[in-house]
Amino acid sequence: MPREIDQHQVAENVFAFTGTETNWIIVQDGTDLTLIDAGWHGDIKDVEASIRLLGRQPQDVRVVLLTHAHADHTGALNYLHDNYGAPLYMDPLEVSNALGDTYESGGPINVARRLYRPQVVRWAARMIKAGGLKHYTFPSAQPFPQAGPLDLPGRPVPIASPGHTSGHCSFLLPHAGVLITGDALVTAHPLFNGVGPRLLPADWSHDQTEAINSLGAFRDLDTDTFIPGHGPVWHGPINDALDRALDQVRRGHAVR
Ligand SMILES: [Zn+2]
Repeated sequence: MPREIDQHQVAENVFAFTGTETNWIIVQDGTDLTLIDAGWHGDIKDVEASIRLLGRQPQDVRVVLLTHAHADHTGALNYLHDNYGAPLYMDPLEVSNALGDTYESGGPINVARRLYRPQVVRWAARMIKAGGLKHYTFPSAQPFPQAGPLDLPGRPVPIASPGHTSGHCSFLLPHAGVLITGDALVTAHPLFNGVGPRLLPADWSHDQTEAINSLGAFRDLDTDTFIPGHGPVWHGPINDALDRALDQVRRGHAVR
């Protein structure tokens, strides 16, 4: 019996789901779907169940978009491609991470140095169960087929937001007024206490200076809702969220 999936309708035709503490997003456009991110390997059944929860089939997924190629966002990619043929697109700079030619990821050492905290121990156990110790590659990875708004269900607009990885990309859904930030801006994570807009810790990022600078890519966007890669959906002016995240940086919470 699969566990109950945490589902949240964020806007008309935009749905967020939470698996093993990681979010994925389904954008519906008629009968066609765009899936953004795909949970851990251990979340594959839940990703498929989330599609069916909307009354659709995995074959309705026209495309999978990826914010970045970390294991907690890529779980169902090969499954969906191999079984249903969904193409997989991402920022051109992220393709080599997805293919396994490069590797930019917070490793077991970064987890180990935090194991004095019980919440991290519990999270590490869940992460291992979800496939966190295996390194998967994604041979179907391709760069976005065009620049600017993508001619795909929901017409998502890629917004380059490098730093967490070199090719990290966020997506704006202009019709829904929703921004999908992946790990460029999160609201909660087992690595830290509390809920609110902030960056992941520096040792979780490939280049934290670049990650801080990338917050500027979100400023003044026409959105008052963002869906992070980790943590609850945030409702409120995007510039307020960015100021809160930058305040956390100033207080030193994102530099270690
Ligand atoms: Zn990540």
